[in-house]
Order: sequence, then structure tokens, then C-alpha cells
Amino acid sequence: MERILFTGGQVVDGSGAEPAPAEVLIEGERIAAVGRIRSADARRVDCTGLLVAPGFLDGHSHSDLQVLEGRPEKLRQGVTTEVVGNCGFSAYPTGAHAPEVREFANGILCGDGAWGWASAAGYLAAVETRACTGPGVLSLVGHGTLRISQVGLRQGPLAARDVEAMAAVLDDALASGAAGFSTGLMYAPGSSAPPEELEALCRVVARRGKVYATHIRGYFGDVLNAIDEQLELARRTGCKLQISHLQVVGRGNWPLQARALEKIERARGEGIDVAFDCYPYTAGSTVLTQILPQRALEGGAERLLERLRDPAGRARIARETVERLVWDWRDILISALGSGERPEAVGRSIADLAAETDRPPIETALDLLEAEHGAVNMISFNQSEENLRRTLAHPLSTIISDGFYVKGRPHPRLAGTFPRFLGTFVREQKLMPIGEAVRKITRAPADRFGASGIGRIEPGAFADITVFDAATIGSPADYQQPELPPTGIHAVFQRGRQVM
Ligand SMILES: [Zn+2]
Repeated sequence: MERILFTGGQVVDGSGAEPAPAEVLIEGERIAAVGRIRSADARRVDCTGLLVAPGFLDGHSHSDLQVLEGRPEKLRQGVTTEVVGNCGFSAYPTGAHAPEVREFANGILCGDGAWGWASAAGYLAAVETRACTGPGVLSLVGHGTLRISQVGLRQGPLAARDVEAMAAVLDDALASGAAGFSTGLMYAPGSSAPPEELEALCRVVARRGKVYATHIRGYFGDVLNAIDEQLELARRTGCKLQISHLQVVGRGNWPLQARALEKIERARGEGIDVAFDCYPYTAGSTVLTQILPQRALEGGAERLLERLRDPAGRARIARETVERLVWDWRDILISALGSGERPEAVGRSIADLAAETDRPPIETALDLLEAEHGAVNMISFNQSEENLRRTLAHPLSTIISDGFYVKGRPHPRLAGTFPRFLGTFVREQKLMPIGEAVRKITRAPADRFGASGIGRIEPGAFADITVFDAATIGSPADYQQPELPPTGIHAVFQRGRQVM
């Protein structure tokens, strides 16, 4: 069994405590001792001037497929575990509807070809036996995928037997190692699911003692009602609730953020096990179809195209989109196009593209969706700096990337989240002490997702360790050059093996 001794550094153990000088000895895949250690026969890693922290945990990503491909973006940031299967999108179960599951999820999971697993066990086995190096994986069952696996792309309330079938599949997935359940209630078909359906599924989550993570029904002017719906679900079922990427989108709605936080604090005071997460950027990223009324997606992309080709249908979609749009068209950038054609459009705003062709912006957006069969990704400038700082610093928040891969220009959070958080917000803006910051990206999310063997530097824990320089850690990745690697990460160990 290999023994490795980290010497000369300051240990920041994930508990929230500030760094303190200590040595860390690992034996095989576990931490054997922390403190003053005499060990002659161990390989030494000199950490002088550096911090020795638990490997970071990305509590919300969409790398369900890329964790099987050995991509470097997460390990380079010091991330040794990521939670996939978020916002209702997971790579299993496919049931009798694998093609529809792929159509539903490709824009978020960046899938190609014939991916998809029948069960959680199958997916987790694929992760377990992957040939490449990658972060550890905690996997949520996505509600959208689960629903489609049973009934296809159909929207609206389901028959009781269909909901029972979904509950049984969910139960089986949680029993065979899935870490929890997620919903994406702004994405069709999850957007059409009534509360009773969600309640039946959250009961399964509660019975299994797992976590329920939700992309709520609205982050705009409707955010408070959307939070209430989820708190009520947790109250009725007793499930552990994680509100995903909490933010309030749209300038006019920004004042609602303080009330959203109060609601969560109050619910917590009542004994509801609720917390939330956020990414350290004011812009978000998703599929461009997200700006449409989700009814327009009923039946999938082909049906959307039919509706867009019919002048009356197109006019209705255009009107409803504009009515509910909270962004200025200048704040929506095109980040990827499914066809890979028109690369000149990537990185430009819809307002810019519209001005060039002298078309109204909404028609430009619909033209793009039509030309690309619905496969367009966007980056949108969502929230205020002040609100962002408040959520990052809040004691109930954990820090996530929400990163996903695209065939184009990804959001810089994919390559930069954790170093940016520690560099820009913790060192430069002094938003919180480093011990608390490390807790938010290690032990807090590990405990939230029931992974008590990781996210801490203590004897017996898994030897997932990130060594970094608090003085230089940071991310130069931005919206123009989103893939630049971070600075200040010196070494990353996963299960005792050096992976960076
Ligand atoms: Zn989401």
C-alpha cells in the first residue's frame, strides 16, 4: 500500500475551521493520520506555502457523459467528485424511449450517438469500470428522463399507473446507488408535471433518505411561488430539499432575491431540511428553447419545427415568448449551434445578429432554432453582482459549477468555477474566510449528498486531496476565452492516486 506524506503545508480540513499547520499521511486510498507525523518510509509531497484541502466537490454538473471520457476541466480545478443528473436530465433510465431521452437531453448533456443506460446500476457500473481518469461521480435520477422513459415526450398529467411505474423505477435506482432525484420544472416535459406527481416521487426519495435537487418552476417574477411549491413538497413528504442554482433572473425581479432567502431561512427554522446552491457568475447558460413557452416543445423538436413553419403557430410562439421574456436581447449570447455551421454566430448576442439582418430579435431567435432543429445553446446575463455575493456568502449555500459541455463556446464556469470562487470572491473580495469557503465546496455538499467518506481531511476519510496556493488561485476563463485553465492548483489526489 502506497504511503504519501503531505508536509510543510497548512491543512484546511473542510469543517469550516481556518487553516492550521499539519501533516497528512495517506495509506492506499484513505487518510491514515493528520497532525505531527513521523514517517520515514512515505513518499513526500512538499506543500510549503500551500493549502492542503479535501478534493473539491462540484455539487451540480451536467457531465453525465463526459465523466466517461477523461475530460480534464474538472480535475484541473481540484474537483475530485461531481454530482451529475441535475435539472431533470440524467443518462438513465431509458426504458422503451431511448431516442426520445436523447432528444430531450442532448442539448444539456452534449450527447452524440447512441448513449443511454436502462438503469442506475448500468450507468454506475460504466462509471466504475471507465478506462479514463475522472472525478468520482454521485448520480441523481433526472425526472425528465424518468418520465420520458415511461411515457415518451408527452406532456401533462399522467395516469396513476404511469406515476406508480415511475416511482418503482426511481426506488430501484436509489436502492442501487443513485444519490438522489432531480427535477427541471422549467424544461418540457417536467414543466407540465403536476405537484401530485412530484409528491409521489419525493415520497420515494424521503423513504430512501436521499436528496431531492430541484431546478424550480421559475427564477423570474414567479420565483417566490416556485420556492413555496418546493418547500411544500418537502413539508408534505419529509424529503431533503436542495434548491438548485438559486438566483433571481431579470433586472426588475432582483429585489425578490432577499425575500427568497428569507423564505428558505424561515422554512429551515420550521424544521424543513432545505439548502441551496449557486455558481459564482452573474450569467447562466442553457438551451435557447428555454425562452419559449414550453408547450411549444410538446412532442419534441420535429413538432416544434412544424409549429414554427405554420405562420399562425409561429406568431403565437413569438408573442408568448416576447411577453414572458425577462432579458434584453443584448443579454442573450449564442454559445453553440447543433449543426456546427455558422460559427460566426457563436459568441454574439441575438440583438447583434438581428441588427445585422434587419430582422426583429424574436424572429432571429426563431430562425436560428428552425435552422438548427432546436439545438441552440445560450449564455444569458441573469443576475446582479450584489445578489450573487449574497447567495455565495449565505451559510446555507454551497458552490457549484452547473457546467456543461457544448459543441461551441461553453460558459467559463465549466473550466473556472472553483478557482474563480476562491480567487475572485474569497481572496480579492474577502467575501468569507478561506475555511468557510472550503467547507462550501467540500464537506457541506458531501454531507448534503450523503457522501460522508469524502469532503474532509480526517483519519479514515477517502484520500481525495487538493493542494493549492491561496495567493494565486484563480481562473482567467471568460466569455470570450472560456476554456483557459485555472491557476494555483498544485496537485490533485483522488482515492490516494495523483490525478493532476
Ligand atoms: Zn438547472
